[in-house]
Amino acid sequence: MPRDYTFDCYRDLLEAALQAGYRITSVRDYLEAENSDSKTIILRHDVDKKPHNSLRAATVERELGLKTTYYFRIVKESNVPEVIRKIAELGHEIGYHYEDMALARGDFDGAVRSFEENLTYFRTFYPVKTVCMHGSPLSKWNNRLIWKKIDYRDYDIIGEPYCDFDFSQTLYLTDSCRTWDGHNMIIRDKVANSHDVRVSSTFDLIDKLKSNEMPAHIMVNTHPQRWSTHFLEWSVEFVGQNIKNFVKRLVAGQIARRDDTLFSLPTPLSVARAPKVDPDLSGSR
Ligand SMILES: [Zn+2]
Repeated sequence: MPRDYTFDCYRDLLEAALQAGYRITSVRDYLEAENSDSKTIILRHDVDKKPHNSLRAATVERELGLKTTYYFRIVKESNVPEVIRKIAELGHEIGYHYEDMALARGDFDGAVRSFEENLTYFRTFYPVKTVCMHGSPLSKWNNRLIWKKIDYRDYDIIGEPYCDFDFSQTLYLTDSCRTWDGHNMIIRDKVANSHDVRVSSTFDLIDKLKSNEMPAHIMVNTHPQRWSTHFLEWSVEFVGQNIKNFVKRLVAGQIARRDDTLFSLPTPLSVARAPKVDPDLSGSR
């Protein structure tokens, strides 16, 4: 039986999407372009760790002529300058995977300073135009709280995937937890999906793309650290993720309830210029 979450399988997925007539685009290109009704996959990657895996994904995409988005964290397990530079050179979009509220332990002023410094840093590699929240599952701070204090549009940022997409129109698919169907295990970085599409594996997704069972607009979010080529690396990730998923199911509900309380704080400054849709910030429903 072929193994899921390998880079060969990843290439098959992209080829299936292209053959099914989807245009595959970065977050920035999607937001900047005049978007028609054509079949579109907005493809973004959260580089939580193991950035060399992201370079492999970026290379596969380049070979297929694609430009997608890579969101890097500032912490050392993600932020490897040589890799960021190479992915930018391959023509992909680089964005900032922010977690400043967690890093500043809830201190708003510290988080704003940190956000500004880190954005400036990533702009030494690429003219960053979009940013995306890191879920920080182990932190008590939800990183999107920073938008209660500042507005990313004031920093020449044109979009944030959790704030600027209407997920009643765009299906959100993520490989979080190494399953495309892990809705109960994702702690913060999920959205209120209104589509009723179940995808059990990458092979199942490939089949559904080929048989035209998928909606026309999809955002795909991958974490390249979960994908591998070597059997040993694949096995370690497979066993580790199964244990993590068990724990995540237990804590997800608890954190969602706490985030609900945090987001009922006074009106966010940026909501006055609100994104089209305010996705379910709590992730509890
Ligand atoms: Zn992340």
